[in-house]
Amino acid sequence: MRIDIISAVPDLLHSPFQHSIIKRAAERKLLEINVINLRDFGLGPHQQIDDYQYGGGAGMVMMIEPIYRAIESLKKVRDYDEIIYMTPDGQPLKQALANKLSLSENLLILSGHYKGIDERVREHFVTCEISIGDYVLSGGELPTAVLVDCIGRLIPGVLNDETSALFDSFQDDLLAPAVYTRPADFKGMQVPPILLSGNEAAIEKWREENAMNRTRTRRPDLLEDKSMTD
Ligand code: SAH
Repeated sequence: MRIDIISAVPDLLHSPFQHSIIKRAAERKLLEINVINLRDFGLGPHQQIDDYQYGGGAGMVMMIEPIYRAIESLKKVRDYDEIIYMTPDGQPLKQALANKLSLSENLLILSGHYKGIDERVREHFVTCEISIGDYVLSGGELPTAVLVDCIGRLIPGVLNDETSALFDSFQDDLLAPAVYTRPADFKGMQVPPILLSGNEAAIEKWREENAMNRTRTRRPDLLEDKSMTD
């Protein structure tokens, strides 16, 4: 998969993809990430990318033309499955959406700043709008990093144990069960004995119950979604 990202602050996006699983995805040539500096498409000698909003009011708005130029130059080279705008009023990022996007060949992600981007970009060029939660950040770079990480680890071959993403929280509208590692006894704090029993069926049952209990107490809303899809 290739992900192109248009950003006014590209430096914010360099470190998140240089480590751990996303780095491994790039090394295995399963994921290529390319950050484009919006300012390279800015207007005039100062490479302007934002302006005052029509109608007055505080806060700058990202202009349509630099974004249009950036998108057009990228679209000349490849087609995109989706042109995504990260925005608090987009559809909430859920695991099902990440699963779907992880099957894409090329994605283009646009990060906003200031008051956001000129609405005409959203109406005419953007095909998918995504929010990472009901709160407002100062820019779209961190939301973009969240989305890329979430999608990247789902690309087949990225995680070493192919099945491990399947057992993460939300994949089955359930939270993941508790996990433990050595030592079995730390200052009197014990690991549940069943996990040390070697009885695979009993362990599986314990995990299912633990996941169900956790979901019931922490996120009962997920069980409502589950019974609706079931
Ligand atoms: N005025 C806008 C917020 C702009 S925040 C509003 O009230 O809706 C500036 C930029 O940060 C946005 O353009 C968007 O790209 C990004 N951003 C902020 N919060 C976000 C969130 N929860 N999810 C996705 N992107 C977000």
